[in-house]
Amino acid sequence: MAKTVKKTAAKKTAKKKTATRKKAPARKTKGKSIYDTEREALDQRKRSGGSSDYWKPGDGRSTIRPLTFMDDEGDERLFVEDVRHWIDLGDDEKQVVQCGGSDCPICALKNEVSKEIWGEIKPDKYMLVNVVHREGGEDGEDCHKIAKLRKTAYEQLADYLFNSMVKQDPLSLTKGIDFKVVRSGTGFKTKYKVLPAQRTSKAGDFADSVVDLASSQRETDMEALEELAGSILEKFGS
Ligand SMILES: [Zn+2]
Repeated sequence: MAKTVKKTAAKKTAKKKTATRKKAPARKTKGKSIYDTEREALDQRKRSGGSSDYWKPGDGRSTIRPLTFMDDEGDERLFVEDVRHWIDLGDDEKQVVQCGGSDCPICALKNEVSKEIWGEIKPDKYMLVNVVHREGGEDGEDCHKIAKLRKTAYEQLADYLFNSMVKQDPLSLTKGIDFKVVRSGTGFKTKYKVLPAQRTSKAGDFADSVVDLASSQRETDMEALEELAGSILEKFGS
Protein backbone atom coordinates (compact mmCIF):
# COMPACT_ATOMS: atom_id res chain seq x y z
CA MET A 1 0.00 0.00 0.00
CA ALA A 2 2.72 2.42 1.03
CA LYS A 3 4.57 1.56 -2.15
CA THR A 4 1.65 2.64 -4.32
CA VAL A 5 1.43 5.99 -2.59
CA LYS A 6 5.11 6.58 -3.10
CA LYS A 7 4.85 5.69 -6.76
CA THR A 8 2.03 8.14 -7.34
CA ALA A 9 3.95 10.90 -5.64
CA ALA A 10 7.00 10.18 -7.76
CA LYS A 11 4.89 10.16 -10.90
CA LYS A 12 3.45 13.55 -10.04
CA THR A 13 6.89 15.05 -9.55
CA ALA A 14 8.06 13.60 -12.84
CA LYS A 15 5.07 15.02 -14.64
CA LYS A 16 5.66 18.44 -13.22
CA LYS A 17 9.29 18.38 -14.28
CA THR A 18 8.40 17.44 -17.84
CA ALA A 19 5.91 20.25 -18.06
CA THR A 20 8.49 22.75 -16.89
CA ARG A 21 11.07 21.45 -19.33
CA LYS A 22 8.62 21.51 -22.19
CA LYS A 23 7.76 25.10 -21.52
CA ALA A 24 11.35 26.24 -21.25
CA PRO A 25 12.06 26.77 -24.98
CA ALA A 26 9.29 29.33 -25.13
CA ARG A 27 11.28 31.47 -22.69
CA LYS A 28 14.50 31.10 -24.68
CA THR A 29 15.46 33.55 -27.37
CA LYS A 30 18.68 34.13 -29.24
CA GLY A 31 18.91 37.56 -27.67
CA LYS A 32 17.03 39.25 -24.90
CA SER A 33 13.82 37.88 -23.47
CA ILE A 34 10.58 39.58 -24.31
CA TYR A 35 10.46 40.81 -20.71
CA ASP A 36 13.77 42.64 -21.08
CA THR A 37 12.98 44.17 -24.44
CA GLU A 38 9.61 45.35 -23.24
CA ARG A 39 11.07 46.94 -20.13
CA GLU A 40 13.84 48.57 -22.15
CA ALA A 41 11.26 49.98 -24.53
CA LEU A 42 9.30 51.33 -21.58
CA ASP A 43 12.40 52.94 -20.08
CA GLN A 44 13.33 54.34 -23.47
CA ARG A 45 9.92 55.94 -23.82
CA LYS A 46 10.21 57.44 -20.38
CA ARG A 47 13.76 58.68 -20.97
CA SER A 48 13.04 60.19 -24.36
CA GLY A 49 10.50 62.48 -22.77
CA GLY A 50 12.74 63.75 -20.00
CA SER A 51 10.52 64.04 -16.99
CA SER A 52 7.61 62.34 -18.73
CA ASP A 53 5.64 59.54 -17.21
CA TYR A 54 2.57 57.48 -17.99
CA TRP A 55 -0.54 58.76 -16.37
CA LYS A 56 -4.11 57.47 -16.12
CA PRO A 57 -6.94 59.75 -15.08
CA GLY A 58 -7.52 59.33 -11.36
CA ASP A 59 -10.78 59.45 -9.50
CA GLY A 60 -12.59 62.73 -9.75
CA ARG A 61 -11.48 65.65 -11.86
CA SER A 62 -8.18 66.19 -13.69
CA THR A 63 -7.27 68.88 -16.18
CA ILE A 64 -5.18 68.15 -19.25
CA ARG A 65 -3.99 69.95 -22.34
CA PRO A 66 -3.36 67.61 -25.32
CA LEU A 67 -0.09 68.25 -27.19
CA THR A 68 0.75 67.11 -30.69
CA PHE A 69 4.08 65.57 -31.65
CA MET A 70 5.95 65.20 -34.92
CA ASP A 71 6.56 61.67 -36.20
CA ASP A 72 9.70 60.71 -38.14
CA GLU A 73 7.96 61.47 -41.43
CA GLY A 74 7.45 65.01 -40.22
CA ASP A 75 3.67 64.60 -39.86
CA GLU A 76 1.85 66.11 -36.95
CA ARG A 77 0.27 63.43 -34.76
CA LEU A 78 -1.73 63.29 -31.56
CA PHE A 79 -2.99 59.83 -30.52
CA VAL A 80 -1.24 56.47 -30.73
CA GLU A 81 -2.96 53.20 -29.93
CA ASP A 82 -1.29 51.03 -27.30
CA VAL A 83 -2.48 47.43 -27.02
CA ARG A 84 -0.98 44.95 -24.58
CA HIS A 85 -1.52 41.46 -23.25
CA TRP A 86 -0.98 40.62 -19.60
CA ILE A 87 0.20 37.04 -19.27
CA ASP A 88 0.48 35.10 -16.05
CA LEU A 89 1.76 31.58 -16.57
CA GLY A 90 1.95 31.05 -12.85
CA ASP A 91 5.66 30.47 -12.34
CA ASP A 92 7.23 33.67 -13.63
CA GLU A 93 6.59 37.30 -13.08
CA LYS A 94 3.51 38.49 -14.88
CA GLN A 95 4.57 39.45 -18.38
CA VAL A 96 3.29 42.33 -20.43
CA VAL A 97 3.72 42.13 -24.19
CA GLN A 98 2.69 44.38 -27.02
CA CYS A 99 -0.16 42.96 -29.12
CA GLY A 100 0.79 41.79 -32.60
CA GLY A 101 -2.21 43.45 -34.25
CA SER A 102 -4.44 41.67 -36.77
CA ASP A 103 -2.14 38.61 -36.97
CA CYS A 104 -1.52 38.45 -33.23
CA PRO A 105 -1.06 34.81 -32.05
CA ILE A 106 -2.32 35.69 -28.57
CA CYS A 107 -5.50 37.34 -29.88
CA ALA A 108 -6.00 34.15 -31.91
CA LEU A 109 -6.43 32.18 -28.67
CA LYS A 110 -9.85 33.71 -27.99
CA ASN A 111 -11.76 30.50 -28.65
CA GLU A 112 -8.98 28.18 -27.54
CA VAL A 113 -9.02 29.06 -23.85
CA SER A 114 -11.75 29.44 -21.22
CA LYS A 115 -13.67 32.69 -20.82
CA GLU A 116 -11.87 33.33 -17.53
CA ILE A 117 -8.41 32.95 -19.04
CA TRP A 118 -9.38 35.02 -22.06
CA GLY A 119 -10.59 37.72 -19.67
CA GLU A 120 -7.08 37.84 -18.25
CA ILE A 121 -5.07 37.74 -21.48
CA LYS A 122 -7.38 39.66 -23.83
CA PRO A 123 -6.03 42.85 -25.44
CA ASP A 124 -5.79 45.75 -23.00
CA LYS A 125 -6.31 48.87 -25.09
CA TYR A 126 -5.37 52.46 -24.40
CA MET A 127 -4.85 55.55 -26.50
CA LEU A 128 -1.63 57.37 -25.67
CA VAL A 129 -1.42 61.14 -25.90
CA ASN A 130 1.10 63.73 -24.71
CA VAL A 131 -0.53 66.15 -22.31
CA VAL A 132 0.19 68.96 -19.91
CA HIS A 133 -1.27 67.68 -16.66
CA ARG A 134 -2.41 70.80 -14.86
CA GLU A 135 -1.25 70.82 -11.25
CA GLY A 136 -0.22 67.19 -11.71
CA GLY A 137 3.36 67.53 -10.43
CA GLU A 138 4.56 66.51 -6.98
CA ASP A 139 4.31 70.09 -5.73
CA GLY A 140 1.11 70.80 -7.58
CA GLU A 141 2.85 72.33 -10.58
CA ASP A 142 1.87 71.69 -14.22
CA CYS A 143 3.86 68.88 -15.82
CA HIS A 144 4.20 66.79 -18.97
CA LYS A 145 2.75 63.27 -18.95
CA ILE A 146 1.88 60.58 -21.44
CA ALA A 147 -1.79 60.03 -20.76
CA LYS A 148 -3.26 56.54 -21.18
CA LEU A 149 -6.90 57.01 -22.07
CA ARG A 150 -9.58 54.37 -22.27
CA LYS A 151 -11.73 54.30 -25.42
CA THR A 152 -14.65 56.27 -23.98
CA ALA A 153 -12.45 59.13 -22.74
CA TYR A 154 -10.49 59.17 -26.00
CA GLU A 155 -13.62 59.26 -28.14
CA GLN A 156 -15.08 62.23 -26.30
CA LEU A 157 -11.81 64.12 -26.55
CA ALA A 158 -11.28 63.25 -30.23
CA ASP A 159 -14.89 64.14 -31.01
CA TYR A 160 -14.47 67.56 -29.55
CA LEU A 161 -11.10 68.14 -31.21
CA PHE A 162 -11.95 66.95 -34.69
CA ASN A 163 -15.71 66.76 -35.14
CA SER A 164 -17.05 69.80 -33.36
CA MET A 165 -17.56 73.14 -35.06
CA VAL A 166 -14.87 75.03 -33.18
CA LYS A 167 -13.49 78.08 -34.93
CA GLN A 168 -10.33 78.24 -32.90
CA ASP A 169 -7.65 75.56 -33.01
CA PRO A 170 -8.10 73.80 -29.65
CA LEU A 171 -4.55 72.44 -29.97
CA SER A 172 -2.92 75.85 -30.35
CA LEU A 173 -0.06 76.27 -27.85
CA THR A 174 -1.03 79.85 -27.08
CA LYS A 175 -4.79 79.93 -27.56
CA GLY A 176 -5.81 76.31 -27.19
CA ILE A 177 -8.14 74.63 -24.76
CA ASP A 178 -7.69 72.55 -21.63
CA PHE A 179 -10.00 69.60 -20.98
CA LYS A 180 -11.41 68.29 -17.77
CA VAL A 181 -11.46 64.52 -17.45
CA VAL A 182 -13.88 63.30 -14.82
CA ARG A 183 -13.60 59.67 -13.76
CA SER A 184 -16.17 57.93 -11.62
CA GLY A 185 -16.94 54.36 -10.65
CA THR A 186 -14.57 51.42 -10.55
CA GLY A 187 -13.81 48.29 -12.56
CA PHE A 188 -16.28 47.61 -15.36
CA LYS A 189 -18.41 50.49 -14.16
CA THR A 190 -15.70 53.12 -14.58
CA LYS A 191 -17.03 56.10 -16.48
CA TYR A 192 -15.30 59.05 -18.08
CA LYS A 193 -16.63 62.45 -18.94
CA VAL A 194 -14.47 64.84 -20.95
CA LEU A 195 -15.38 68.53 -20.93
CA PRO A 196 -13.69 71.46 -22.70
CA ALA A 197 -12.71 74.49 -20.64
CA GLN A 198 -14.61 77.70 -21.32
CA ARG A 199 -11.54 79.83 -21.86
CA THR A 200 -8.40 79.46 -23.92
CA SER A 201 -5.04 79.12 -22.19
CA LYS A 202 -1.35 78.69 -22.87
CA ALA A 203 0.35 75.31 -22.99
CA GLY A 204 3.62 76.82 -21.73
CA ASP A 205 6.95 75.31 -22.73
CA PHE A 206 5.66 71.77 -22.58
CA ALA A 207 5.71 71.36 -26.35
CA ASP A 208 9.47 70.82 -25.91
CA SER A 209 8.83 67.77 -23.72
CA VAL A 210 6.56 65.83 -26.05
CA VAL A 211 7.52 62.27 -26.93
CA ASP A 212 7.33 60.87 -30.46
CA LEU A 213 4.84 58.18 -29.46
CA ALA A 214 4.76 56.66 -32.96
CA SER A 215 8.43 55.78 -33.32
CA SER A 216 8.94 54.88 -29.67
CA GLN A 217 6.59 51.96 -30.24
CA ARG A 218 8.76 48.91 -30.61
CA GLU A 219 8.30 46.57 -33.54
CA THR A 220 6.51 43.47 -32.35
CA ASP A 221 8.52 40.26 -32.14
CA MET A 222 5.96 37.91 -33.71
CA GLU A 223 8.08 34.82 -33.16
CA ALA A 224 8.25 35.51 -29.43
CA LEU A 225 4.50 36.10 -29.36
CA GLU A 226 3.91 32.77 -31.11
CA GLU A 227 6.06 30.95 -28.59
CA LEU A 228 4.25 32.65 -25.76
CA ALA A 229 0.89 31.72 -27.31
CA GLY A 230 2.11 28.11 -27.46
CA SER A 231 2.92 28.18 -23.75
CA ILE A 232 -0.48 29.63 -22.92
CA LEU A 233 -2.22 26.97 -24.98
CA GLU A 234 -0.17 24.23 -23.36
CA LYS A 235 -1.10 25.44 -19.90
CA PHE A 236 -4.65 26.68 -20.36
CA GLY A 237 -5.90 25.22 -23.66
CA SER A 238 -9.34 23.64 -23.50
ZN1 LIG B 1 -3.02 40.57 -29.54
